[in-house]
Amino acid sequence: MSGSLSIAGLGPGDPALVTPEVQAALDAATDVIGYIPYVARVAPRPGLTLHPSDNRVEVDRARHALELAAKGAQVVVVSSGDPGVFAMAAAVFEALEDAPQWYDLDIRVLPGITAMLAAAARAGAPLGHDFCAINLSDNLKPRAVIERRVRLAAEADFAMAFYNPRSKSRPEGFARVLQILRETCAPGRLITFARAVSTPEERLTTVTLAEATPEMADMRTVVLVGNSATRRVGPFVYTPRRADAGVTG
Ligand code: SAH
Repeated sequence: MSGSLSIAGLGPGDPALVTPEVQAALDAATDVIGYIPYVARVAPRPGLTLHPSDNRVEVDRARHALELAAKGAQVVVVSSGDPGVFAMAAAVFEALEDAPQWYDLDIRVLPGITAMLAAAARAGAPLGHDFCAINLSDNLKPRAVIERRVRLAAEADFAMAFYNPRSKSRPEGFARVLQILRETCAPGRLITFARAVSTPEERLTTVTLAEATPEMADMRTVVLVGNSATRRVGPFVYTPRRADAGVTG
């Protein structure tokens, strides 16, 4: 049997949010590769080798996966959420760029439910109109790029989802992002801090921009910033489907 490589999203945490397609790939796998806590979500069984690794070596991990698939293994690389959202799919293609001998391998990307969509569903519909997703980690891009994107997205009145909002190594980065929002948006702008969505530790808090503090986010939180029309309805937060011309605030 020839090898294959699937790059699969495990969803935000709840096993009920793993797609049947991803489950079938895991059931057929001989090897599962990924960051330690994600591999820990895959049930061990005879015939399956788990390869947990540290997060900082994504391209090495991708190369390892490609090598195993080239030797005939049925390999699944796992990410949390969706593998194409700040995760392993792009890392595999980065590794593939340098390795034309692997271009004809059977490679597929299997989507998953990404954190912002799981969080938005819990909150109501805060991403109900145009929105963007911004990774606040400065591992792979300069802070100036992050700040420019946040400012321009706020000026364009996008709702926003922030991934990796706050790292232990650079806690001041998220404080700076809140400051940029305060310069561009009205103090009543709604912000939802959604932590560990769909796990037993899940916690959602919605506050105004005036009330938001950097400590409300950690690395298990996705932050949803509404647009200027985002409002509360009963216990929910939603963004109407229409936008007036030129709104900001
Ligand atoms: N590929 C993943 C994102 C990886 S980046 C996805 O599509 O969801 C890691 C960041 O995702 C975390 O810092 C956090 O911002 C967010 N995240 C992942 N799982 C989450 C969850 N269950 N609840 C809230 N945020 C989550």
